[in-house]
Amino acid sequence: MALYQKCIPHAYAASIFDIDYDELKKQGTRALFFDLDNTIIAYDDIELDQQHRALLDALKRDFDVVVLSNTSYKRVSLALKQIDVFFIWHATKPLKRGFRKACQNIQVKPKDVVMIGDQLMTDILGANRLGMKTILVRSVKRKSDRWMTKINRRLEVGVLKKIQKKQPELYLERLKTYVDDHQM
Ligand SMILES: [Mg+2]
Repeated sequence: MALYQKCIPHAYAASIFDIDYDELKKQGTRALFFDLDNTIIAYDDIELDQQHRALLDALKRDFDVVVLSNTSYKRVSLALKQIDVFFIWHATKPLKRGFRKACQNIQVKPKDVVMIGDQLMTDILGANRLGMKTILVRSVKRKSDRWMTKINRRLEVGVLKKIQKKQPELYLERLKTYVDDHQM
């Protein structure tokens, strides 16, 4: 399978508040993996706000909730200070090891996991490689992207163009709004 094919999410949502979690539950989802930066918090915020904490807390009643981030222990632990969720830092997405570690820890199979994140080249690619379901979300605040993310974003533009060319229907269904939302 070509790289661009592994970067196609199963769905797009404007934010983590716009996902139909009841439907995911019905489909047999056991665990939700969330990216941290720009998915559940803006880069320049230190701690999750009350609204995001409340949602994750509510989701814990129905799912195992994990935060899987490529950033440092300090950043992740501070962000999640007021909430009790399992997290992986330096997750090295899109490599498989962070995803696998999380699955082992909560004893869940990748096929029963939904990964939710704002980056094609890390969150979506990595999770698709393991056979997880993937939901791409609009970045909370893209202006504050870090340099590594900026590089990934450039790669992403190339991949998006390829998907648009090769899979125009999937592009329209799952990625066009993402591109429009970010004025890419
Ligand atoms: Mg992110």
